[in-house]
Amino acid sequence: MADDFDVIVVGAGMAGGPAAIRLAKGGANVLLVERGAEVGTKSLSGGILWGNDLARILPNWWREMPVERHLVRKRFGLLTADSALSFDLQESSWNQEPYVAHSVLRSRTDSWLAKKAEELGATVVPSVPVDRLNWEGTKVHGIIQGGEKMTAPVTIVADGANSRLSLGTPIRPEARLSPETTELGIKEVFRLDPSVIEDRFHVTGNEGHSEEWVGGLFPPGVMGGGFLYTNRDTLSLGIIVSIQSLYGRNAYAHELIERFKLHPAIANRLKGAELVEYGARLVPGGWAGRPAAFHGDGWMVAGDAAGFVFSNGIMIQGMNYAIRSGIEAAETALASKAAGDPSAAKLAEYDRRLEATGILADFRDFARLDRVKWNPRIYSVYPRFATELLRSMMAESGSPKRSARKLLRAAQKAAGVKITSLVRDGVEIAWDL
Ligand SMILES: Cc1cc2nc3c(=O)[nH]c(=O)nc-3n(C[C@H](O)[C@H](O)[C@H](O)COP(=O)(O)OP(=O)(O)OC[C@H]3O[C@@H](n4cnc5c(N)ncnc54)[C@H](O)[C@@H]3O)c2cc1C
Repeated sequence: MADDFDVIVVGAGMAGGPAAIRLAKGGANVLLVERGAEVGTKSLSGGILWGNDLARILPNWWREMPVERHLVRKRFGLLTADSALSFDLQESSWNQEPYVAHSVLRSRTDSWLAKKAEELGATVVPSVPVDRLNWEGTKVHGIIQGGEKMTAPVTIVADGANSRLSLGTPIRPEARLSPETTELGIKEVFRLDPSVIEDRFHVTGNEGHSEEWVGGLFPPGVMGGGFLYTNRDTLSLGIIVSIQSLYGRNAYAHELIERFKLHPAIANRLKGAELVEYGARLVPGGWAGRPAAFHGDGWMVAGDAAGFVFSNGIMIQGMNYAIRSGIEAAETALASKAAGDPSAAKLAEYDRRLEATGILADFRDFARLDRVKWNPRIYSVYPRFATELLRSMMAESGSPKRSARKLLRAAQKAAGVKITSLVRDGVEIAWDL
């Protein structure tokens, strides 16, 4: 019996939407299914969309897609309970098309992408929470929802971080994600008049500002940070914390985001802003949290479901990798359709494409940073050490200034860090970077 579709894509996020567009453009009979009542209602990102991956399927996408602001400045910072130390990166080229990055609200972008796919001939069906993949032995032959099967020779699994379609299957034999490699992201959106945003963040027109803070503001041992991004008439604010580091510390997610919002460096920027949205989601753990394989007989896995997210306190990138991997999966599915061969051997082209486009190389490289990222001193001792050192260098007490060596010793004492830890961490950071 003939299959219902050439390709089924599960999840209309940043991986699934672009995959469906590429497939429809390539003449495939594609079904894009989404569990949300409308596409975009379940999506959540910080979200700064870096790069120009969408140009491969939608030239000049940034002029048509409902993006918020293009980034002209990025602030990186360290927070302690009562102080902040930051620096800004600003480049004039960031203010020129096609732009280096945009702030986005996923409810708008994802529904726009799904609409594009539909206009190009894809069948887009929201309100379909797929129960499971239709496994026939080791082969996937479409999906099952509410007891009904829909078949296709190839299925692209793009159902996001906590990929229920993969867990406990040959894609991810483990029953759940590991708390050691998974983070929790919480985000709030605040409405604020665009003219206030422009004044407060020193931007004009469609320009945008983003900031990421490594947090020494959380309870001891809790590792994570916060972000604040400007949209057209809203601000996106949130935190990302290691799940493992929350265990046994009496730390509750809602209290952590309150701490971030109430920090003096953040609170004054929220003045007069009204909370309009709230959401939380898991962030998968990159290379360490990757599935057992990225493809098999009749299936490929893309985006967050494949663990393609990198977050390290000073940046989080996942949407760019979702788009790129979604397009590569679509290209592979088109080649498999042309050859009439959906076998694992044919779909192995997906891995070669992930390699050629640099996705796998990036994630292998980022894995080297895990030792730095999961060093608890990065989140507690070093923000205190750095702020203490700078404060004492600048302070005027009326007595003679102290030598640099004495200031370093004093900052080290105030932060409670041993010289041996400083040296060891310095060597590790230099080595891992
Ligand atoms: C707080 C936070 C901040 C972030 N900030 C940034 C940022 O600034 N920049 C950046 O690049 N990345 C950021 N990320 C990461 C980024 O959001 C993800 O990498 C990206 O959304 C991955 O896209 P995706 O399509 O793979 O998954 P998703 O966007 O999660 O999409 C998956 C889709 O599948 C649907 N789905 C799930 N299960 C089923 C099912 N059974 N049946 C049908 N549909 C299903 C979901 O409803 C959803 O629409 C952030 C993440 C978080 C949590």
